[in-house]
Amino acid sequence: MCTVGGPMADIDIKKMKTRKCRCLDCGNEFKGVGRRVICPSCQSDNVECEG
Ligand SMILES: [Zn+2]
Repeated sequence: MCTVGGPMADIDIKKMKTRKCRCLDCGNEFKGVGRRVICPSCQSDNVECEG
């Protein structure tokens, strides 16, 4: 049996590719990881990503 996820799931961030994202609220550009990206500057989730 193969189990995926579990307590080590957070560490998989290294394996995920980053995308170029831009915050629509403050205009900050940053690298986003994962599906749900939050602006590091203003913590908004109103973010647009490429790729
Ligand atoms: Zn922002």
